[in-house]
Amino acid sequence: MKKEEMELRRGIIAACRAMNSLGINQGTSGNISARYRDAMLITPSGVPYEDLKPGDIATMPLKGEYGSWSGPLNPSSEWRFHLDIMRSRPEVGSVVHTHSTYATTLAICGKEIPAIHYMVAASGGPNIRVAPYATYGTLELSALALKALEGRTCCLLRNHGVIATGANIKRALWLAAEIETLARQYYLSLSIGGAQVLPDDEIAHVVEKFKNYGPKAKPTAPAATKKGANPAK
Ligand code: 13P
Ligand code: ZN
Repeated sequence: MKKEEMELRRGIIAACRAMNSLGINQGTSGNISARYRDAMLITPSGVPYEDLKPGDIATMPLKGEYGSWSGPLNPSSEWRFHLDIMRSRPEVGSVVHTHSTYATTLAICGKEIPAIHYMVAASGGPNIRVAPYATYGTLELSALALKALEGRTCCLLRNHGVIATGANIKRALWLAAEIETLARQYYLSLSIGGAQVLPDDEIAHVVEKFKNYGPKAKPTAPAATKKGANPAK
């Protein structure tokens, strides 16, 4: 196995354990996948995260026979939505699924998360939608999730949990934790009289602003071509 693939497998396991230590998932619920070349690496079904070893992660081809897999253990029961997201969204490098408490509570009530905070813009739009209910692990659930994810990085699943995506595992895990924070803020605001929601154009503005958010390397001054030459001229 290539070093790159081994690192990705280790990254999936570390993120699974982080989900539980961050308090955004419990037990063996939830699952994580990562894109590796023409394949998807995904957690096996129902294995406690503390017992997971890199060799236990299943591999599924992105093209070819839908649902075929290799590895010692069968892939997560949610492989369909993980695979369908990877196949239809080339920008996605990782998918994190959790049953985090506050986000799932809202999903149980069929409540989407409106723009109660500018961080909702991390979803790519003015709300975090709720996909209608379908039984876990089904093609129907996958189709409903993909619809709720249109133009978005994340969604809630009615009476079930959360899907967060990202360019890499770190980013998808960060978003899963952020959704739980927003859900908690929304839940608390509902308990003291209701939230004041930001207008759509403000969220559209923040979506654009986020494209340049974060640390940037300081631009280096261009080297002068001749001694004493002023590079600004
Ligand atoms: P798996 O253990 O099969 O990944 O299932 C957990 C889950 O969250 C199903 O929705
Ligand atoms: Zn689930």
